[in-house]
Amino acid sequence: MEYIKKLIAIHSISGDEQKVQEYIYDEINKLGLGPQKVGNNIVVRIQGMNSKKALLFNAHVDTVPEGSLELWKTNPFVPTVRGDKVYGLGASDEKAGVASLLLLAKKLITLKPMCDVWLHFVVHEELDGSGTKETMRWFMKQYKNKYKHIAGILVEPTGLEEIQIGHRGNIFLQLTAYGDSGHGSRPDIINKHAVFEMVKALHELKKLEKKWRKYNDQLLGKPTIALATSINAGDMHAPNKFPDTCRATIDIRTNPQMHALALGDIKASLQNLGVDLDVLYTPAGAGKTDKNNALVTVTKKLFPKARICISQGSTDQCFFTEEGIPAIIIGPGEKECMHISNEYCVASKIQKAQQQYLKIIQQWGIL
Ligand SMILES: [Zn+2]
Repeated sequence: MEYIKKLIAIHSISGDEQKVQEYIYDEINKLGLGPQKVGNNIVVRIQGMNSKKALLFNAHVDTVPEGSLELWKTNPFVPTVRGDKVYGLGASDEKAGVASLLLLAKKLITLKPMCDVWLHFVVHEELDGSGTKETMRWFMKQYKNKYKHIAGILVEPTGLEEIQIGHRGNIFLQLTAYGDSGHGSRPDIINKHAVFEMVKALHELKKLEKKWRKYNDQLLGKPTIALATSINAGDMHAPNKFPDTCRATIDIRTNPQMHALALGDIKASLQNLGVDLDVLYTPAGAGKTDKNNALVTVTKKLFPKARICISQGSTDQCFFTEEGIPAIIIGPGEKECMHISNEYCVASKIQKAQQQYLKIIQQWGIL
């Protein structure tokens, strides 16, 4: 309980992870495990019997903002224990996972693992995944040739009830359409209306839904395109003025069959419409691990009741997939507690996760 309480008490909203990283660094250092810094991330290697295999655990230390304080029944930065539950911001997503890895580190100083174990504590997951991207690039550059087998476990919240093996990629776009501005009393002189120009563009993009249907992925399913997840034009306080611009956002969920083609298709659809296209954030690819992969099999045996499935949202698993590393997601936090007020985690699951992670290491390590 000590780790989770301490972790919740340290403010670590994305971009402000320095203090929590200092705490994790000190705790690992106290154990004599020699943590290293890779950018703002922390990596730790625990040498195992078989130095040709590495199992890499990944936990993000950042949280989303706490949101409206009125919706919280307790102070989000003060860990509050009620029975087996610990309330606080980031409790499930995913400080419970971080705590289970700190417990695992403590265990691994007394017990030699069957394979090399790596713990990556990363920043910026809730923003753009740049922490995992950075640590994976660093790791592959340094160790790709050293190991014969590498696999990963991300400790995102699944309540230990799901083993997630994939997710679709995403591309977020902003469209800007232009029109004539003018006085509301003179619609006759408005030749180009920004909102109608946007509607034309959206109609064109709607056709991609049908075109992309052929790209079906057995595990991840079909891509989707969500049009106008937000739209904005003019000023609600100036009903007598035509808007000269209209902006809309679009959310595309991709699968590996079409991820690389998606932007080209979008650009082709918008050709000659006079609409500007901006890519918001760096597009993230899909995450995908074969359900027959040895790590999935070992984990399923240890969690016989857990469901093998895909995750709806995007995770840092895509950076493992990008590097060709099979990875799964299973963690002690509660999935229904992600990004909500009154977030909590179940303390006993932190302990359980640590014990099961150790078994996964020992069983996967000797395969
Ligand atoms: Zn998370």
